[in-house]
Amino acid sequence: MAQTLLLLPGDGIGPEVIEQTVRVAEKVAPDLALEYGLVGGASYEEHGTPLTEETLTRAKGASAVLLGAVGGPKWAGVPRDKRPEMGLLGLRKGLDVYANLRPALCFPALADASALKRHLVEGLDILIVRELVGGVYFGEPKGIETLPDGTRRGFDNAEYTTPEIHRITRVAFDIAKGRGNYDRTWGGVCSVEKSNVMDSGQLWKEEVQALYDAELKDTGVPLHHMLADACAMQLVREPKGFDVILADNLFGDILSDEASMLTGSIGMLPSASLSDAGKPGLYEPVHGSAPDIAGQGKANPCAAILSLEMAMRWNLDRIETADAISKAVSTALEKGARTRDLGGEMSTSEMGDAILAEL
Ligand code: NAD
Repeated sequence: MAQTLLLLPGDGIGPEVIEQTVRVAEKVAPDLALEYGLVGGASYEEHGTPLTEETLTRAKGASAVLLGAVGGPKWAGVPRDKRPEMGLLGLRKGLDVYANLRPALCFPALADASALKRHLVEGLDILIVRELVGGVYFGEPKGIETLPDGTRRGFDNAEYTTPEIHRITRVAFDIAKGRGNYDRTWGGVCSVEKSNVMDSGQLWKEEVQALYDAELKDTGVPLHHMLADACAMQLVREPKGFDVILADNLFGDILSDEASMLTGSIGMLPSASLSDAGKPGLYEPVHGSAPDIAGQGKANPCAAILSLEMAMRWNLDRIETADAISKAVSTALEKGARTRDLGGEMSTSEMGDAILAEL
């Protein structure tokens, strides 16, 4: 049966970067069946909801799902449960993609585009494994209530269970084993939490350690624990000291955005969100819909194209194709291809042309 890739371009620059990604997909994988759907604000406009049951069903039946970006000021006044971002959360939850992989990789040609000094980021290749469908973003109860004195109270619930922590820990160790970078300061897996002040953080640390002692020690992969605030500091002090950072939903969100600046631009960063083996993953750039540049042909399509690369690698079993895409992006950059976020002048489609020329 032919493999299918469901494309959900979404809002803002989403459709612009997905357009270039489709050109790459058609060139390197002409047999891949491409299907389209709506998500986020685009779906809200058409169907009154950011994610329809039909789209979710199609996503579950696809080999992989590639999303552009969702959101924008146009939908700021829409009720919370109808906001574009809820479409994305619904898709993640519906596909049960609990493991979010965010590589922070500094292409040699971009070492000077980073906010940090060249020697700190040159050759950087770390991976953040973030738990994606649990924790404080989903915990109940949550809400905003008005108190008797007229002031208000907002509250969320940060919670994790043993199975949730164990399954994401296994993913992190599986990947760290394949990478084999044990000689770095915090090489192997570095698990981060706030066990000093949060009970859910203490449980996270204890359960990661318990699983390690019971099952994972024999893999030879080292395990480190670090407080999330210390990790935020070390990421800018010695980023190359890490290999795989294992984090919950909230800290993984923050730390991966921080790591994005190590690589030069958020426009370079892809992500993969995986479920159990054999189920479709959700692939998307780390960036949002960038309303400030949407519709102007200024967006960098690399993060979306590298998200396709991750889909080829993690879901579609096309490792050589994935390597070819990664190399084409790297070579195009080495030859000087730059969108504005990287200090150049190229438009979104010119950047696409430059990458296609290397394939
Ligand atoms: P953003 O990532 O959209 O933009 C942050 C900054 O980075 C902007 O200056 C933007 O121009 C720039 N930028 C982002 N991607 C770029 C690219 N590919 N090329 C060049 N420059 C790029 O974040 P934001 O401004 O905080 O959020 C805008 C909207 O996107 C909000 O509605 C937010 O909720 C949504 N959002 C969606 C996702 C997602 O779809 N996964 C992620 C983050 C934010």
